[in-house]
Amino acid sequence: MDKRENSIEISKVEFQKMGYQLIDTIADFLNNISNQPVTTSKSPKELQSILGNAALPKTGKPADQLLISASKLLFDNSLLNGHPRFFGFITSSAAPIGALADLLAASVNPNVGGQILSPMATEIEKQTIKWLAEFIGVSPNYGGVLVSGGNMANFTAFLAARTAKAPKDIKEKGLYGSKQLIAYCSKSTHTWIDKAAILLGHGSDSIRWIPTDDSNKMNTQILEQTIKDDVAKGHQPFMVVGTAGDVSTGVVDNLEAIAEICKTNDLWFHIDGAYGIPAAVIPELKALFKGVEDADSIALDPHKWLYSPLEAGCTLVKNPKHLIDTYSSHPEYYNFSLTEEGGSLNYFEYGFQNSRGFRALKVWLALQQIGSDGYVKLISEDIALSKYFAELAEQHSELEAVSQNLSIATFRYIPENLELTGNKRVEYLNKLNEILVTKLQEGGELFLSNAIVKEQYCMRTCIVNFRTTRKDIEASIEIILKEGLTVHKALSFK
Ligand SMILES: *Cc1c(COP(=O)(O)O)cnc(C)c1O
Repeated sequence: MDKRENSIEISKVEFQKMGYQLIDTIADFLNNISNQPVTTSKSPKELQSILGNAALPKTGKPADQLLISASKLLFDNSLLNGHPRFFGFITSSAAPIGALADLLAASVNPNVGGQILSPMATEIEKQTIKWLAEFIGVSPNYGGVLVSGGNMANFTAFLAARTAKAPKDIKEKGLYGSKQLIAYCSKSTHTWIDKAAILLGHGSDSIRWIPTDDSNKMNTQILEQTIKDDVAKGHQPFMVVGTAGDVSTGVVDNLEAIAEICKTNDLWFHIDGAYGIPAAVIPELKALFKGVEDADSIALDPHKWLYSPLEAGCTLVKNPKHLIDTYSSHPEYYNFSLTEEGGSLNYFEYGFQNSRGFRALKVWLALQQIGSDGYVKLISEDIALSKYFAELAEQHSELEAVSQNLSIATFRYIPENLELTGNKRVEYLNKLNEILVTKLQEGGELFLSNAIVKEQYCMRTCIVNFRTTRKDIEASIEIILKEGLTVHKALSFK
């Protein structure tokens, strides 16, 4: 067959050569990851000068050279969330099978928007979603869609909730014809809900941020009262968001109580479980997650506690018909649908995206490589390591453990013999701990982030990292103590 002369194609032999070479360098990188600094200490200016500011090339360059220099740029100048001492935000170490899965997915390149474009990939995504539902302990009849992450998973559910509970003509009339539609969530809900309210035209005034109780769970009595007040004012409540593992401190709302309130008031019950819901697989934690099985929709993030590489989020919906009702409009030129009995499965009808990549593959493969028992072990160990962090903090007189839930611990550095009292003390400790977090991040020996707990500035570690060991925690505590004293000295002798 005639081959078209072009600058894209890579011959089989060349592909093998540069592919093996790339895989070799990645294997070295992963094997050596714990000997690297957790993050680069270079400033954006220095990084720009390393990158250079060459103009867009007019003519092409050899692919093998490009891959070698891109690998070097990235290996030498990245934050390594796969490092055993990375405990920041909620970003997991990535299962290596996910990297290989992405290579395979990109090579076949199915468009998982339509079944006809992705015959097997569509089936694999469907099975992945079924397994995820089974994994977190809800009925495997939940359906859903994979999305880019927690924000998108929550947006996808928010609009489905509105379609289900708002007047039937909302898709035609928009929000103008209806009463003000109100959503409820706890004060510690992630910022996605503000974005959703703005994006979907509700406005942030239509969100009721319900106060939390002493244990930082949504106060469900105030929730009930607020719903009543809104109804009395002529508004229409439509959904309540329960959080299963809040971003700052890992607290799980009282899901069972929220489910009950939703039932009584005919409201959509959504759970934001982006971080925490995989912990529902742990037998000892079943009680904490009671009520999950009543959720109308659930957001979860395989790229957090299922160790998938970015990006992978998932929206699960108890009755997947609500996704079709919301996202399908059957324009004529999409002549894919309803070819089989019961209709064919076209994921463009389940969410915001049209053309869609095959992000299911990396999740599907990791679920099989690890298995649910494997995940129980990994997730329990992450929790045990987080408890160990809090325990060690408690033992040291210069550290104060503040909270520990799921795999998140918060704690503060408090210098010995600190004489300040009252407001001066509060302010000093907040400032000291804030500077300490920045110092530790810049130091590259470990990486943690911060949380404000009861108006105190805290260090915060979140362990969703299969490479972390008890040794890493012990070493990290020593580094924190050393740096804490250095920061205190610098501050108090100013
Ligand atoms: C991480 C997180 C989000 C946002 O998820 P992304 O994947 O970053 O978009 C939302 N809610 C909770 C509870 C989270 O932990």
